[in-house]
Amino acid sequence: MPEKCPFCKIINGEQESEKVYEDRDVLAILDINPSTPGHTLVIPKKHASTVHDLSNDIMSSLFGAVEKVMRRIGEGLDPDGFNVGWNHGKIAGQAVPHLHIHVLPRFEGDKGGPVQAVVRNEPEGDLSSIAAKIRSVEKPSKQRSRVQREVEKKEKKKDVSPQEKQLGEVDRVPGAGKDSVEMEGEPEREASEEEEEEEDEEDERNKSAKEKWKEMKKARY
Ligand code: 5GP
Ligand code: ZN
Repeated sequence: MPEKCPFCKIINGEQESEKVYEDRDVLAILDINPSTPGHTLVIPKKHASTVHDLSNDIMSSLFGAVEKVMRRIGEGLDPDGFNVGWNHGKIAGQAVPHLHIHVLPRFEGDKGGPVQAVVRNEPEGDLSSIAAKIRSVEKPSKQRSRVQREVEKKEKKKDVSPQEKQLGEVDRVPGAGKDSVEMEGEPEREASEEEEEEEDEEDERNKSAKEKWKEMKKARY
């Protein structure tokens, strides 16, 4: 656990919080600086800064907990609606690098806006070319992060720590769960070592393409 992470401290009982929900994988607390009454943070107990570093099991616990928290807030505070979402990455406003989902109860006349209001950066390209770019990297074998693959590899070699096991990290060993997004007509299967290496190389190529794109953008604006 990173020493300074406030959410790890709360999860480990070293720092106080107003807890509203807890299960094996998830803790939900009231935000210390609420944007609205009942503003809740739903936090996976495992420290991870991005969704890609969480197992399918934990992700499903996390979203299950969001629904339960919404139901509790709904009955306890009687809001008129909710905004739910997370700031993913510094540029998107993530201040605490321990992933958490904001649940924001909405009340009539609260002067808030929809989630789309957080950014208005209209794309230059047409939607179909943007969609094609996104679809082109959506191979089933690429949907798992490198971290998750490492856990699988370790499990194959029986080199998994009891802590990782306890955290449910290895519950996603081959066949244990389905990836969240399936492309039509593409059956899910495991990537071979060679394919994983190819994917790593492709990641590197994509990275340099991304860098070039950033430079182009910088030069333009
Ligand atoms: P982020 O910008 O990272 O998505 O949001 C972090 C949220 O965590 C902020 O809304 C902030 O008020 C809340 N927060 C930061 N530190 C603490 C803390 O120690 N306790 C609680 N309850 N909330 C915190
Ligand atoms: Zn943490």
